[in-house]
Amino acid sequence: MKIEQLPTPSYVIDQKALKQNLQILKSVADRTGCKVLLAQKAFSMFATYPLISSYLSGTTASGLYEAKLGREEFGGEVHIFAPAFKDSEIDEILAISDHIVFNSGRQLEKHLDKCLRAGVSIGLRINPQHSTQGDHALYDPCAEGSRFGVTKDQFNPDWLEYLDGLHFHTLCEQNSDDLASTLAVVEEQFGEYFHQLKWVNFGGGHHVTREDYDIDLLVASIEHVQKIYGVQVYIEPGEAIALNAGYLVTEVLDIVENGIETLVLDASATCHMPDVLEMPYRPPLQNGFEAGEKAYTYRLSSNTCLTGDVIGDYSFEKPVAIGDKLYFEDMAIYSFVKNNTFNGMPLPSLALMDETGDCQLIKTFGYEDFKGRLS
Ligand SMILES: *Cc1c(COP(=O)(O)O)cnc(C)c1O
Repeated sequence: MKIEQLPTPSYVIDQKALKQNLQILKSVADRTGCKVLLAQKAFSMFATYPLISSYLSGTTASGLYEAKLGREEFGGEVHIFAPAFKDSEIDEILAISDHIVFNSGRQLEKHLDKCLRAGVSIGLRINPQHSTQGDHALYDPCAEGSRFGVTKDQFNPDWLEYLDGLHFHTLCEQNSDDLASTLAVVEEQFGEYFHQLKWVNFGGGHHVTREDYDIDLLVASIEHVQKIYGVQVYIEPGEAIALNAGYLVTEVLDIVENGIETLVLDASATCHMPDVLEMPYRPPLQNGFEAGEKAYTYRLSSNTCLTGDVIGDYSFEKPVAIGDKLYFEDMAIYSFVKNNTFNGMPLPSLALMDETGDCQLIKTFGYEDFKGRLS
């Protein structure tokens, strides 16, 4: 069916755009020999895993459930990192993971024997304390007091006997100049240990598939580390894999007027695009412009009881009518993975768009999905 015929709300994954991103990421792997993993926390529509796994080496997980999903649906390598691993889950995690990355020396020592018995590749996350994100502390693992990673002062070289790799993840939607400056600090602090390792994982946050991304500098950074230290480099982007590769389709249910005309949509910021409120950011909208730029300005809001459930003010060339569909763009990443059913809001359907623009409904949700999480 055509995108206009899908039920609303629906997330639609654009396979053509996804493929273009995957080709770019694969070209980095092909040029350098590095391995690229899908960070599932950003995007885990597993109907697309057969496609993604034909380009990338594996997945990374934030916990047991994502690791299981990667193992079951993607194949390839399964990597996992979490601030702490529970005794009740560690055996199952070790049975399905190829790499496990610990966040602290205490966690490493606690689970070490089991890891050695399982034959899993063991890594430790380091914190180079080099902030490159300005004052965006919510997404900065190098922020003052951050719980992420072992600092140079805390690092105990005795651990090297067991460690196969080190992992740093300090970027968010950043270009390779910030990777290069981070890498310089990482090498200065931890470079002396790299010769004893098998791999170094550069984490995520590399906005590789963004138009202005400097891929040559990423390639040079990877090649530098692999050549000087003889290690395998991994990167594990989430965003970059499905950047600009999805839509959220919503319908205008009503228009209310109170100083400004507000569109009541069947999609919600707080339920279906929480990063709009958390980051915060303004999602691109097809045929939508800055407030006041075109003749007709509206506030785009939701069918919930939260006053602040507002996506933003947008203007249009033509008046919007009840029953119109609106298409939010760049809705593949950090969207449906964060969904909730606050207010009893339905979960949007999941659909796939092929290269000809034809759409296929993959999954719909109903009352049982709402009730099933309650008791
Ligand atoms: C979030 C995260 C990623 C992916 O980050 P993106 O910004 O989506 O590329 C990779 N690794 C770790 C450890 C993360 O926490």
